Amino acid sequence: MENFNILVVDDEPGIRAGIKRVLRKFTVDYPFMDDEFGFTVDEAATGEEAIEKLKTHTPDIILLDNKLPGIQGIDVLEYITENQIDAYVVMITSYASLDLAVKATKHGAFDFVPKPFTPQELRSSIENVSKQLFLKRMTAKMHKEGKQIRFQFLSLLSHELKAPLTAVEGYLRMMQEKSAGENIDDYMKMISRSLDRIQGMRNMIMDLLDLTKLESAKKQRSIEQCNLTQLADNALATMQPSAIQKDVELILNANENVVLTADPEEIEIILNNLISNGIKYNKPQGKVFLKLEENEHNVKIIVEDTGFGISDEDQKQLFKEFVRIKNDKTKHISGSGLGLSIVKRISDNYQAKISVKSELEKGSVFCITFLKTN
Ligand code: ADP
Repeated sequence: MENFNILVVDDEPGIRAGIKRVLRKFTVDYPFMDDEFGFTVDEAATGEEAIEKLKTHTPDIILLDNKLPGIQGIDVLEYITENQIDAYVVMITSYASLDLAVKATKHGAFDFVPKPFTPQELRSSIENVSKQLFLKRMTAKMHKEGKQIRFQFLSLLSHELKAPLTAVEGYLRMMQEKSAGENIDDYMKMISRSLDRIQGMRNMIMDLLDLTKLESAKKQRSIEQCNLTQLADNALATMQPSAIQKDVELILNANENVVLTADPEEIEIILNNLISNGIKYNKPQGKVFLKLEENEHNVKIIVEDTGFGISDEDQKQLFKEFVRIKNDKTKHISGSGLGLSIVKRISDNYQAKISVKSELEKGSVFCITFLKTN
């Protein structure tokens, strides 16, 4: 359970103790919260003491009595606003006057509790503030994460796409200037290296597009009875050119009409990513087996390869965005580190389970288990 910190500023010890008692076991939860929130209460008997405390610690909520022995609650509120202290203030007002209400609102008070108040009135005001606080925190978090992801996208784009562009441009210039002399084979090598780099860029752009599609609210999912065998066949055909290039054999092992209730576009993305990894992280003369298994409860997509394998330690990192496992074998292989995170996102949409078994030098098996809905 998370906690919100409350600072109670009131000169009457009885009120402070009463508030503590009411809030000690009070919790709030809303359907949109993962967890419920409780409260820890700190206290100050004067405005001066409150300000001292605020210099070292910012509570989430301040319950502030206006009528205090020294400086008044409204002065403390002014201090809070001037110093941009990020706390929600609820004013406690003995003589609820319109003047004070207007003044306090101008200075950013969030709510009022007229004195004397019942425990229920206190709880309902605190509940209100907590909801705001929670939403504010969530928004800030999403904002931060969104920015972080955008930043990663940009650095990825600028680095991973700029490098191949520079390389292709370099090869083209060398060809334009006939810098390799008259030997046509040297130019052929330049062309094939350029094509490799362009393929790498294409894969990366496809990953980014897949991710954008998944994130865009505009994409309408169209769930239907898909012929999974057909989708698997198509995916293998799409991947055949890169398999040939890497000298990897693709093998389908499936009954003719395996059916899965899903959005065919999403299943295509899963298949393409898993098969393409099986090819990319494989050895010459390696194999990629695509198996479809079905029983009365579930349908499994299994992609098995005879490639480099992934260590137990590295397996823990898989499926997170932008994770790439760098070692001697993989360092020259281009990728965005997005493919498996996309596979995971889509699988999660179907509550499908992903499992990985892998052994270094032997190969990897990725299995996605879809529960049958009927
Ligand atoms: P990308 O391939 O674009 O780097 P992925 O998210 O598809 O991104 O994969 C993340 C990392 O996991 C890869 O960089 C690679 O090191 C490792 N990986 C994925 N699939 C395999 C596989 N079949 N065999 C070995 N390593 C793999």
